[in-house]
Amino acid sequence: MLDVLLANGAVITVDGENRVFERGYVAVKDGLIAGVGSMEELESDGMPEAKRVMDMNGHAVLPGLVDAHGHGGHCLLKTLGEHYDDEWNEMAVHAYYRCTDTDFWYNEGALAAAERIKFGTTTAVSMVGSDPKIDSVAAVDANLAASSAVGIRQFSGIGFPDGPWPKTAVQYDEEGGAHTLTLSQTDALQNIETCLRTLNGKYPRATCIVAPGRMGRRSNVSEEDTIWQNKEMARLAEEYDVPLHTHAYSGDVKFMYETSPEALSPRISLTHSTGYSDEELEILKETGAWVLHGPTTYSNAMWHCRVMDMLEKGINFAIVTDGTAPDRSYDLWRDMKNIQVVQRYVHQNYGLMPCGTVLRLATIEPARALGIDHLVGSLEVGKKADIITVNVMQPHLAPFRVMPIQRLVSHAMGQDVDNVIVEGEVVMENRRLTRVDEAEILQKAAESFEKMLARLDRTDILENPNLYGLNQYV
Ligand SMILES: [Zn+2]
Repeated sequence: MLDVLLANGAVITVDGENRVFERGYVAVKDGLIAGVGSMEELESDGMPEAKRVMDMNGHAVLPGLVDAHGHGGHCLLKTLGEHYDDEWNEMAVHAYYRCTDTDFWYNEGALAAAERIKFGTTTAVSMVGSDPKIDSVAAVDANLAASSAVGIRQFSGIGFPDGPWPKTAVQYDEEGGAHTLTLSQTDALQNIETCLRTLNGKYPRATCIVAPGRMGRRSNVSEEDTIWQNKEMARLAEEYDVPLHTHAYSGDVKFMYETSPEALSPRISLTHSTGYSDEELEILKETGAWVLHGPTTYSNAMWHCRVMDMLEKGINFAIVTDGTAPDRSYDLWRDMKNIQVVQRYVHQNYGLMPCGTVLRLATIEPARALGIDHLVGSLEVGKKADIITVNVMQPHLAPFRVMPIQRLVSHAMGQDVDNVIVEGEVVMENRRLTRVDEAEILQKAAESFEKMLARLDRTDILENPNLYGLNQYV
């Protein structure tokens, strides 16, 4: 007997042949996809028994989205300091290292997972912190625990942050007492390894990964230290067999290739990847390293990711949100649209980035980047049942069963997702989270936000003096 049968939907598989069943089904048993196909086929074989039948007439059924880059913490920092340019990251790092407690990381993690699930993302990656936060194993633990409780498939990362060293952090005990810590690079490495050793396998669907902030040449870390850090990060990712994940910009790929080439392999994902030279594109092609492109990011606005050059060369590539602060959302549907808009305008060619290609870049391709494409990213028999449904019977998406992929990519928003299944379990039904109390998540997140804000003690981050001007940067 099947556990769940999703019947009568427009099923978009994103499989190797990009099959679409206009009136199709997906069968789920023991957390896995047990069947995918057309209703005619199913009916002619005799309808199978299922504990639960979900009538998906009026719905599109597709694989859960995979958002391979975001930041733990950012859901409680969004919009704050939007009017700072260079100073923004410094403010964020200060807030995360000195103004947060373990509850903050749990409550923010739950809020983030809830947001992502409600937008149809079933697999998510979060670098914990803006630049990674290495002072607290408990913060990474809390991020994973909260995500797991909401039901999402979560990858949370810790790795070396930017310099200068040593780092200072303030930690708060349960009575509210504050303790200042100073951490060397060796202390940081120890915390990173403790996270990998103790957190993997601790919570269902939760993986701790290696995620340094950056692995290229920087002004506040010596070249010798950067190379040592890179080699340690590559070693740990290999040893624990987890993804290696970082931000990368112009020159970083060449630097790594020349100094720590073991880091460049299909295991690594390079978020932003803006400003690369032709030589760096060749290195990406040769090594199989992944590019994670955030169409809506600061980095893409400032230095441009060479999206079309990369795709034409066959470089491994996926779309990410880089959510959620200061001005992004975890709605990957927006970024599917934004990559089209940006590339079409940059190249003055409105034909670029057709919808089918874009959908693959938000599902199966990021699953490949995480090394889990044999498990998720498409609707195929034997894979984990990570499935989302979109209510198409709405004015902006109707009529039903007409060009479903284009309808979704061009016109849908995250809020149109109405059911989310992760590993066979319905974690959102008719937009209601099933495992957790959403009102409580919002309430606790607000409490943690207020505490963080009071410790930060900077009201200017809430006031953009140029809100109605032509340039918001002060
Ligand atoms: Zn980022």
